[in-house]
Amino acid sequence: GDLILIEVAQRLSGVLRGTDTLARMGGDEFYALISLPHNSDGELIVQKFFAALQAPFMFDDPDPVSVLFNANVGTAIYPEHGITADSLVKNADMAMYQAKNAGIDYVIYSSDEDSKLRRQLKLSLDFKEAIENDQLFLLYQPIFNIQSGQVKKIEALVRWQHPTLGLISPVEFIPICERNGGIRELTSWVFHQACRQCKVFCQVDAALSISINLSGHVFSQPEIPDVLENICKISDISTGNINLEVTESTAMAKPDQAIEILNQLTAKGFTISIDDFGTGYSSFSYLTMLPVSELKIDKSFLLNLGKNSDKVIKAMIDLAHSLDLKVVGEGVETKDLLVLLKNMQCDYAQGYYIAKPLPADKLQLFLLKSLNIETA
Ligand code: C2E
Ligand code: MG
Ligand code: MG
Repeated sequence: GDLILIEVAQRLSGVLRGTDTLARMGGDEFYALISLPHNSDGELIVQKFFAALQAPFMFDDPDPVSVLFNANVGTAIYPEHGITADSLVKNADMAMYQAKNAGIDYVIYSSDEDSKLRRQLKLSLDFKEAIENDQLFLLYQPIFNIQSGQVKKIEALVRWQHPTLGLISPVEFIPICERNGGIRELTSWVFHQACRQCKVFCQVDAALSISINLSGHVFSQPEIPDVLENICKISDISTGNINLEVTESTAMAKPDQAIEILNQLTAKGFTISIDDFGTGYSSFSYLTMLPVSELKIDKSFLLNLGKNSDKVIKAMIDLAHSLDLKVVGEGVETKDLLVLLKNMQCDYAQGYYIAKPLPADKLQLFLLKSLNIETA
């Protein structure tokens, strides 16, 4: 180890000029204080560091060995990234850890905006291992039948327990997966899990169905109807136990492909809901062309109730009913909202007032409890 540190120090010094300073502050961390030409971001010199470290380290005491290793570099530049030595060192350090965590060579320190980008980059890189390392899991939220008081429908919602960043919401990582191509694997993983769990829930009540969210990407995957049908077969459940949710905006983005794929899916026995309804730009005439059986009114309508949004909700429910579609109200956080939906003849309610998204075992208890209440 000592020999390597000495050799690293020599190679790095070889890159620097007499006016620069190189120091080892401890462990395997080196700091370089470098005066840069005007307008330079230091990239060139960092490349020289990497080049200097690229060749294997050869030792022949007692036997010949060659050692290869990696480095991560973070940089902070005076005065943009700090005007004191302390702040420059701290920010360079932070940039180095970001590089290390993301598994990339080199990060230049930057404040908020860029750290958002860097977080996305990190999530994008880390997602590659999320499935393999068992970091994803599903939660299940009941969808309550307002008129009958029963729960026969459950929505599966994915979560990512990241090893260092904690719990990541699908709102954050799904768009990233859509960009980096991970979405196919995610869709398949979610589908497998939810179908397997559906089999278990159906032992409580064979009429249960699970709603699974589909990304708009499936509309460019002509094989998706067969793939999903196959997973149902493997899981020994009927396609009739699975409802698929697609958002209004994704179905609108590629209407012809959406109609084609959704028709194939319904032909196989799946039912379809339009999710987050009211936030996109679809017209009801377009909706009549899609083989959907249900609309889910976006939670923003109930969460920001007031002004005229109750009238808008009522109008959406009536129009949906006139098209023979069932309606789910999302974001039911209070009893008042549930009563309001009931009075508006809404079919289903989903929200924290009924239950938050729950782990499978808790949901199973919830189902058993509500069955008991029903029979009582
Ligand atoms: P969504 O399909 O509209 O799911 C409903 C979201 O509302 C969920 O957020 C749920 O936790 C939240 N929610 C439920 N009840 C309430 C309530 O009373 N109040 C409030 N404020 N929120 C409530 P979540 O789980 O964060 O999921 C967000 C979105 O991510 C989902 O919206 C869905 O579009 C997407 N998503 C989730 N799981 C998957 C998945 O497996 N695949 C795909 N492609 N998308 C998914
Ligand atoms: Mg949904
Ligand atoms: Mg929704």
